[in-house]
Amino acid sequence: MQDIRTPGMQNVVLSSKSLTDYAPVVGDDVIAELERLAKPLQGARVLHISSTAYGGGVAEMLHTLIPLMRNVGLNAEWRIISGNDEFFTVTKSMHNALQGMDLDLTPAMKATYLHANVDNAVYFEDDFDYVIVHDPQPAPLRMMCSTNSGKWIWRCHIDLTAADADYWGFLRPFVQMYDAAIFTLPDYVKRDLKIGKIAIIPPAIDPLSPKNAPMSNDDARRIVGMYGIDPDRPSLVQVSRFDPWKDPLGVIDVYRIVREQFPGLQLVMVGSMASDDPEGMEYYQRTKDHAADDPDIHLLSNLDGVGNVEVNAFQQMATVVLQKSLREGFGLTVSEGLWKGKPVIGGNVGGIPLQIQDGVTGYLVDSIEECARRTIELMRHPEQAVAMGQRGREEVRHKFLSTANLRNYLTLFNELAGNAVAPSQAESQAHALTTPA
Ligand code: UDP
Repeated sequence: MQDIRTPGMQNVVLSSKSLTDYAPVVGDDVIAELERLAKPLQGARVLHISSTAYGGGVAEMLHTLIPLMRNVGLNAEWRIISGNDEFFTVTKSMHNALQGMDLDLTPAMKATYLHANVDNAVYFEDDFDYVIVHDPQPAPLRMMCSTNSGKWIWRCHIDLTAADADYWGFLRPFVQMYDAAIFTLPDYVKRDLKIGKIAIIPPAIDPLSPKNAPMSNDDARRIVGMYGIDPDRPSLVQVSRFDPWKDPLGVIDVYRIVREQFPGLQLVMVGSMASDDPEGMEYYQRTKDHAADDPDIHLLSNLDGVGNVEVNAFQQMATVVLQKSLREGFGLTVSEGLWKGKPVIGGNVGGIPLQIQDGVTGYLVDSIEECARRTIELMRHPEQAVAMGQRGREEVRHKFLSTANLRNYLTLFNELAGNAVAPSQAESQAHALTTPA
């Protein structure tokens, strides 16, 4: 029996953002390029559909991408699918299996998944020019929605390289109904996926959001102090949902090894409880048990009032930022740490090597011991840590800010619409130089 809390999808309320505010961060050329790409798309009706408006990287990105789409003239909105706890338990299993966990997919699970999607689809009546459906939770909507207008794009944020064959086999026919699919890395594209177009788009962070905007040292010190963290002692920080793939237990083991060398060390682990992640509470408890009663391990969540500003402060005050994932589609937290000028040590998996140049902007690690060794190295050589962080910040500026994300989406929309976009000023100048008079 399906006990949907609210029938159909719910609109997400969005703040407004202005592209020109980003000019001081990315430069005027980038802004002009975005305006040029948006010109043929004025008034286009765009809908993003996802499974949660809070917690996790997808929600984080959409809170910036969609307001920016609106600001450049698109008529963009965001809706969240509804579903009961049983549905989100099934979709979390699906997420885990697609990341490589060995799990059964039973007929009852399939039924739960499909029923919830039907319940969302039957209320969907509007027409859009572009519908972007994020991740597996709402993937069947394309097949189930009666509307035939517009281009439908499936945006996969997951690393599918080790996907369980049964789960992927079940999902694939739904995905193949789309006009296009977006993946973070070429390696994530399954070979048997037959679809008209594939785009590779890395995720991005918003340099002006409360999580990433500049914060004074005094404010950062005050905020971490409010949570019992001593700003004058070193800290390791990992910001991640409490999830086995983020390896929170391994992070505690790393801290314990490093603390033998640096007795004043503190560990801050911040993990929000996403509404589509029923595993979160259970894994938080496991992490808490593993931390035992160490007063220098701080496990915090949105339930303690930790929001974007607090995450900003913890990252800014970190001696080293960790993202010791065992699987990671991208890992926005890596770019967030680098953007704060911190060296980041990340698991050598998924999208993390895309962001960390090993030995240049941080370190990529394959084990608890290696992670501890690299952390000790950075703590012993703070000047090296600062230089790495600074290089990391510049990498992020060029590759992983929201403006690049917007550019990639606008380019894809234009391609799907067959719009010929006028060449950029730089392209015209190059053309003028090579064309004989
Ligand atoms: N996040 C947060 N508070 C938390 C945990 C995570 O604000 O307690 C944010 C984090 O800063 C990042 C996003 O949620 O912006 C997580 O994205 P990521 O790609 O790292 O991982 P995902 O949760 O999507 O697997």
